[in-house]
Amino acid sequence: MTVRVSLGDRSYDITIENGALDRAGELLAPYAARGRFIVVTDRNIVPNQLYRLETALTAAGIASAVEVLPPGESTKSWVMLEKLTDALLSYGVERGDTIVALGGGVIGDLVGFAAAILKRGCRFVQVPTTLLAQVDSSVGGKTAINSKAGKNLIGAFYQPAHVLIDPTTLDTLPPRETRAGYAEVVKYGLIDDAAFFDWCEANGPKLLAGDPEARAVAIAKSVGAKARIVGEDERETSGRRALLNLGHTFGHALEAETGFSDRLLHGEAVAAGMALAFRFSAAQGLCPPEDARRVTAHIAATGLPATLQAAGVDAGGATLVGHMQHDKKMEGGRLPFLLARGIGETFLDKQVDLAAVEAFLDAER
Ligand code: NAD
Ligand code: ZN
Repeated sequence: MTVRVSLGDRSYDITIENGALDRAGELLAPYAARGRFIVVTDRNIVPNQLYRLETALTAAGIASAVEVLPPGESTKSWVMLEKLTDALLSYGVERGDTIVALGGGVIGDLVGFAAAILKRGCRFVQVPTTLLAQVDSSVGGKTAINSKAGKNLIGAFYQPAHVLIDPTTLDTLPPRETRAGYAEVVKYGLIDDAAFFDWCEANGPKLLAGDPEARAVAIAKSVGAKARIVGEDERETSGRRALLNLGHTFGHALEAETGFSDRLLHGEAVAAGMALAFRFSAAQGLCPPEDARRVTAHIAATGLPATLQAAGVDAGGATLVGHMQHDKKMEGGRLPFLLARGIGETFLDKQVDLAAVEAFLDAER
């Protein structure tokens, strides 16, 4: 199926199809301006998904130059950006060329940023290979690298020309990574689609076990939700796009406390963060306790952390709130939080009392 992201002259289509990677020659042919692509990927993707892509392109008579980067978050750096842009320039990249980002969010964010600044803007196509990238980072045009001062602080809004999602690429993804990406799937239900959360409760375990139908449905639903929100608020100015950060303020504090390391993946932190946001909302009398219980139960049932303890975090409220205050989304000394009136009913509260958050987190410890 195809989902369109409507952004005027920057609009683009997202193709979601089991086996799409093996048809990439045909599906991406319109973007092979000079009969070639420059593909950027990471080492873990070479033996499996890169091989499929190259086979498909070769069969369609499309040439590909390939740049392989080391895997991991540390690849989103100035050093790697320079290495990548130098390599792309040495391939003689022109504005008419298309750069293909084949990989997870790390490759997508870095390659998207490189495409935004190379020759003042080269065309790029996202071929996301993690669940997180398929349902979140490949859609919406946020590109970035990290700096010493924090994650994603240097970047640009730069939309891809196309996003090609093949859910079967997840067959080779480590289960822990799939689970982490699933947290962002659940997020779309919690934001504004209670029926989709019901679907997640019924089908999440099947999806995580690799059921192709469940995976494709969840990806299509998530991409549709993100495309709609991004279409309404491309640059996060109206507050609409901020809804996508549900669970991310609590989650960010947990990631900071665990050193942004493999101890707690981003999606795992978001899972715990969403459960905390619902329990905090219930504690504030905003949300029925039964809804907070359901959210917590579903997250825990999928093997994701739903509590501080399960996230491996032993810090108190003061420490965690301290981490939140370093969050780049702070506005005028107040901390905006996404809270819930119920499942599928979240809203942005810009005036949350940090003392209440601190006391809540101490009680959660
Ligand atoms: P990732 O890109 O590091 O991928 C996770 C791991 O899986 C890596 O080791 C990778 O090599 C491996 N891998 C990827 N695809 C594979 C496959 N099909 N088979 C086997 N191994 C595979 O991480 P991620 O979770 O995809 O993305 C995280 C990044 O995304 C973070 O840097 C985050 O800041 C960013 N992000 C960006 C946005 C956005 O809107 N741009 C949104 C959310 C997250
Ligand atoms: Zn996220």
